[in-house]
Amino acid sequence: MKKKNLFKITSLLLLMMVLLISNTTVFAEKKAEKKNDYPYPITDFSLDTKDNQVSIKLKTDKKVNLLLEYNKINGHKSQAEQIRQKNEDNFKIDFEIGDEPYLLDLTLDHQEFFFSTSMILEKDDNGKKIRNIISNTSDYVFEKKESSSSIGAMNETPDDATRLSDGETNEGYISPDESDVDWYKFYLSEDGYIDLQLYSIPSGVDYDLYLYDSSDTTDEIWAGMNSDNNRELLQERLLDYGTYYVKVKSFNGYDEDNSYIVQWELVKQWPTESTRISRGYSESNDHLGVDVGAVTAGDDGDNIYSIWDGTVTRAEWSSSYGYVVYITSSVDGDLIQSRYAHMLEDLDVTVNEKVQAGDKIGDMGNTGESDGVHLHFETRDCGSSCSNDNSEDPFDPMVYFPEYKQYLKSVSSAANFEEVHMYDKEEVVYTMDEIKKMTPEQRAILSIPVPKMTPEQKKLIGLPVQD
Ligand SMILES: [Zn+2]
Repeated sequence: MKKKNLFKITSLLLLMMVLLISNTTVFAEKKAEKKNDYPYPITDFSLDTKDNQVSIKLKTDKKVNLLLEYNKINGHKSQAEQIRQKNEDNFKIDFEIGDEPYLLDLTLDHQEFFFSTSMILEKDDNGKKIRNIISNTSDYVFEKKESSSSIGAMNETPDDATRLSDGETNEGYISPDESDVDWYKFYLSEDGYIDLQLYSIPSGVDYDLYLYDSSDTTDEIWAGMNSDNNRELLQERLLDYGTYYVKVKSFNGYDEDNSYIVQWELVKQWPTESTRISRGYSESNDHLGVDVGAVTAGDDGDNIYSIWDGTVTRAEWSSSYGYVVYITSSVDGDLIQSRYAHMLEDLDVTVNEKVQAGDKIGDMGNTGESDGVHLHFETRDCGSSCSNDNSEDPFDPMVYFPEYKQYLKSVSSAANFEEVHMYDKEEVVYTMDEIKKMTPEQRAILSIPVPKMTPEQKKLIGLPVQD
C-alpha cells in the first residue's frame, strides 16, 4: 500500500466547507432513521467508537470499490494512508485513535454513483470519548453519475466541480457573468494512464486546461496552454489512484454561445493492483511474458484488468495457461494481442466481448501449469490480424509500462514460484461451456481444479452445508 500525503490543513478546511455548506442539489444532508434512508445501493452505514477504537461498517447491496483515506493530523503535518477494498458489498474498517485528531475521507466509487463522507475524529477534553467534530455518519455526498452535461452548472470552484466519468464528453460554456474558470473532477480507482483533453475551443478565444491532484488545487501537475490551436491535450499520463481536479480557464475573453468539450479517458492500465513483478520477459528462457504476484503472496482473487480497450478473442481453459483471456487491441496503429493467464474459473468476459482499458476480466489464480498464485501476461504483435495460435510475434509488455520497470528490477530474483512448459505443444483446450458441464471426477482426470461449491450446489449432491 502506498502512502500519500494527500491533505494539508487548508484542504481540510475545504472539506469541512464541502460538508457544511449545502448549496447544490448534489449535496444531501440526511438523518438516517431507517435503513432505506440511505441512497441506493447503500443499505447500512455506521460508525462506532469504543475506548480508542473506531469501527466503520458499511453495507451495500451491490459490489462496489471503496477508498478510505485517513489522515493523522499533528500540528501542521498530516500523515495520510489509504485503504482500498475491491468489489465488496460489506466493509468493516477498524482502527485506533491516538492523541492527534484524524481526518477521515471515505469514498465509494461505482460506475453509477459516487458516495463520500468526511469526518474529523478526536478524543474529547478528558481524553476518553472520541468525538466527530464536523459531521455525523449521516452526512454525506451522493452523486449519480448520469449527469452528463455541465451546461449551466455552478462549477466555478473546486468544491463545486462537476464530476467527469471515464470517456464521457462534457460541454461547457464560459460567459462574462460567471468567473472565467470551470472546474471538473474525476476519480481513478486504480493507478492508470489517462488522456485528458479540451477541444472544440471556440474560435477567437483561448481556453487553457489544468490538471491538479486532490492535495492542492492551486498548483497544477500539468497545464495545456497552447494559444494557436483549438485543442489542449495530455496523452498517456500515468496517475496514481485517487481524485483529480481539472480546470478550464479563459485566457483572453469568453464565448458564451459556443461550447468547449472537456473529456478524460483511461487509455492504459497495469493489469492488476500488485506491482510485485516476480519474473520478466526472456526469450532465451522461453518466458514470453511477465509474471506479477498477488498483493498478498499466495492469496488468489486479485482483480485482473484489460490493459487497453479491445475485443476478447479467447476466454477458456488451456492445460498450460489455465483459465486464459486473449484481447486484441489497436495500439498506436498496430494490432496487439494481450494475454492473461492462470486466472480463476470465474472469468468476467466472453469471446467477442468488447472491453475498455481497466475493465475487470478475471481474478488472479494459479491454474494451468503454474506453481503459485500469479498473473502471467503477454503482448504479441499481430501484423494485419491476430490469431489465437502461437504464430504471433511475442515482445516484452514492459515497453508499454516503462514506469513499472523499477518493480521488475527490485524483485526479479525473489520469484517464489516456477512455471513450466508455458508453450506446451500438447496444450489441451476446453471452452467454458464444456468446463461447466464436467463432473468433479472428469475435472480431476484432466487436472482442472474443482471450484469451491456454493451451499446450494452442496445440497444438490448431498454434502453437508456449513458456513
Ligand atoms: Zn509467466
